Amino acid sequence: MEASIVRGFDDYLLVPGYSDIKSRSEIDTKVKLRHDIILDNPIISSPMSTLTEAFMVNALCPLGSLGIIHRYNTVSFQKKLLSYVQDNNKAAAIGASGDFKERLDELVDAGLKIVCIDVAHGDHILTKEAIFHIKETYPKLFIIAGNVATAEGYERLSSWGADAIRLSIGSGSICTTRTQTGHGIPTLHAIFEAKKQKDLLKQSDKHAAMIIADGGIKTSGDIVKCLAAGADLVMLGSMLSGTKETPGKIIISSNGYKMKRYNGMASKTAQKAWKGSYSSIEGVSSTVQYKGTVAKVIREIMSNVRSGMSYSGARNLEEFRNKAKFVLQTSSASIESGPHIYRNGVISAN
Ligand code: IMP
Repeated sequence: MEASIVRGFDDYLLVPGYSDIKSRSEIDTKVKLRHDIILDNPIISSPMSTLTEAFMVNALCPLGSLGIIHRYNTVSFQKKLLSYVQDNNKAAAIGASGDFKERLDELVDAGLKIVCIDVAHGDHILTKEAIFHIKETYPKLFIIAGNVATAEGYERLSSWGADAIRLSIGSGSICTTRTQTGHGIPTLHAIFEAKKQKDLLKQSDKHAAMIIADGGIKTSGDIVKCLAAGADLVMLGSMLSGTKETPGKIIISSNGYKMKRYNGMASKTAQKAWKGSYSSIEGVSSTVQYKGTVAKVIREIMSNVRSGMSYSGARNLEEFRNKAKFVLQTSSASIESGPHIYRNGVISAN
């Protein structure tokens, strides 16, 4: 049987190119989801119970980012959370089975504008049925669906009517899908594939959904690579975890560090917390270091993203996608790509 090669974030680098950008303030990172939904930057906070509730969304909105309220709660509690959201970009997640229709109705009643069909294996008939139901019942909703990992999956969800599609399976920092099931595709590879498909759809004047890179994004460099590869948006979990606005209390570790919880939604801990029992565990739960406010984290990320775009001489995200050039690096080049002074016998450095 033939198998193709997949590569991860650290296998790639972007080639610095000529730039006439004199200040990073010339760089525009706006993303238009629809004429009435425009973000100042391409960042979405993932619908996870230790990440995105109303406090997080209300902190992200003024920064121009999007937050999707998770669905791992009762319908009435999720509705209450959504009603606390001040901005008109009210987003929430629903499933594709069980109480999803009732949840959808209640969230629409609370002003829902963006709906995220949040399914681990989104290339599925239930996703198709859920998209059709939403399109028929609430045609004005902007639909995010996923996750898928292939060009074919991207094309299917796009043809069913998804407006944006989450890409990659098994990449998340808290994910055990690949070890448990043997299935998955690295995020950057999935984006390259979906982008090729998106271009083909556009050439034939067909609806081509936006691409959301989701899972395993660990640095602003990874975000820059996703955007260069064709992602319109990036969905972050671990990079925003541990911030002040995430649900849950600060925990003090045995060595005095401030920590917060960050749980995979298919982890035993998360499943027990929301449904009292667990089955098919495909995630882990963990504690992460407290990071302070999400505003500080987003500002740092976006400063690096603008810097990344200026290395390619790009003033906006569209230009960046067109100008960016990738190279593959060997594993020894990859080692050189991080700080390596410690390897040369220096004992400590600030
Ligand atoms: P991170 O940014 O690498 O932390 O990945 C976050 C993404 O992992 C989420 O947006 C989901 O797509 C995915 N995810 C969340 N919980 C789980 C889980 O328990 N198992 C597998 N994937 C998960």
